[in-house]
This record gives sequence, structure tokens and C-alpha cells, in this order.
Amino acid sequence: MRQTTGSMICPECGKLIGVGEEKCPFCGAWRPGLYGWTPVVQRLFGQRLDLIAIIVMGCVGLFIASLVLQPEAILQMNGLFSILSPGQRALYQLGMTGGVAWREGWWWTVLTAIYLHGGLLHIFFNVMWIRSLGPQVEEVYGPARAFVIFSVAGATGFVLSDVVSGSPSIGASGSIFGLLAALIVYGRKRGGSMMTMQLWQWAAVMFAMGFFMGGVNNWAHAGGFAGGWVTAQAMRFSEKRESRGVQLLALALLALTGAGVVLSFIKVTSLLLIR
Ligand SMILES: [Zn+2]
Repeated sequence: MRQTTGSMICPECGKLIGVGEEKCPFCGAWRPGLYGWTPVVQRLFGQRLDLIAIIVMGCVGLFIASLVLQPEAILQMNGLFSILSPGQRALYQLGMTGGVAWREGWWWTVLTAIYLHGGLLHIFFNVMWIRSLGPQVEEVYGPARAFVIFSVAGATGFVLSDVVSGSPSIGASGSIFGLLAALIVYGRKRGGSMMTMQLWQWAAVMFAMGFFMGGVNNWAHAGGFAGGWVTAQAMRFSEKRESRGVQLLALALLALTGAGVVLSFIKVTSLLLIR
């Protein structure tokens, strides 16, 4: 998998150089080959590592897992929003944040909780939003930057809600607010007022709806918007090529989220076994 000989494209300046080069002879980038790992990362992103598809598959896969882990919860229906609603225990096992998870200091749950949903309608609407906003953000920022925005926005929302309310929390809504914020940031820098106005309206309507519907985590929404805004401001979208740093950050966040689900599962399951 690792490539230690031959040539590659420098991730910083785009010129052809040797993989083993200590410093790029053209731009001076330090260790451009990253001990043979840069070609691997480039191949991953070059063959369109479809991060939006991974997000959607993560949401759907974990939703099914949360139902299978605690099947008796499916029967406890009361109302439209509790159709196919996973149980508390299953959700904690897969990385729900707040509540016990926050008191125990399971910090990674601010990432894993993004991919968990509380019912069929919850996941349906969130996946719909991700599928319509995600590709747009990917188009203007690039896939790695889009994934970083999505993850950091969601995590910011949950940190805020964990600190302020501390109640158990799940859902990609905070990340979706982050995607909206990223598109607004882009629109403002580009000066496209029509599109930006539309996006502000969506954000306002979605935020207002949160106050009318029960069980909606408004702190996660506000935090997600703010986190997405700040992260998007820090990103460059003028150049098509994403830096190696951002690509590695995206892969690290992806790996951390996956490991977090496993870690939560081990922690919660072992707590249950002690009892
Ligand atoms: Zn270079």
C-alpha cells in the first residue's frame, strides 16, 4: 500500500518529485512524501473517496445497527416521530453524546453522535439535507474540506449542548447547519446575493422550527452553525487542490469517528456486564 520509491506529485506545489525527497526541490515543502503515505492519500482522494456517500452510509448503517441492538424498543411507538425509534441503551452503545457519556468523559461521542438518529423521520430528513447540501459544499470546498466542516460543525454543536444542557443527544442536524453556514460564507465571499439570501432563509426557518418541535436540540443547531461558519472561514476554496494537511485531517476525523463507535460499544457493554 505504501509507496517508498519512484515519483509522485508534490502535495503542496503540484510538481513531479521523488517520493523519498527530504524537501521538495521546487517549493521546499518538508517531507512531501510523508514516508510513502502521500501517494496513498492522493490515490484515495484521486479515485474520489466519496465522503458524502460515506456519511450517508454511516448514518443508515448505524441506524439499522441501533434498531437491531435493541429490537424491543421498536415496539414502543407513540406518535409519528417515534416510528422506528432506537432504544437509549443501543444509542449509548453506538456513541450517543450527553448524559452518561458526557459525565464519564467520553469526548469522542461529540463526533459519533452525528451519525445516530432517533427515528425514521429524523434520519430521513437529515439524509435528505446531507444529500442536497453535501455535494454543493464538496463542489466549492473540495471533499476533504467539506468533511472537516461537517465533522467540526457537528462536534461544536454537541460540545455546546453537552456543556449547557448535558442531556443525551444525537443527530446530524448540527452538521447540516454547519454545511448551510459554509455555503453562506462562500456566497458572501463570492457576492452572490440571491443564493445567500435563500440559504439564510433556510437556516432561519430550520432554526425557528426547532423551537416549535419538541425534543429538538437548539444548542446543537446554533453550535453547528457557528462551528461550520468558523471552519469555513478558515478554509480556502479558491484553489482546487486541497493541501495534504486538510486531507490527513479529514482521514483522521473519519478514523477517529469509526474508532469512537467501537470504543463506545466496548465502554457501554462492559458497564452493562458489571451491573
Ligand atoms: Zn513542492
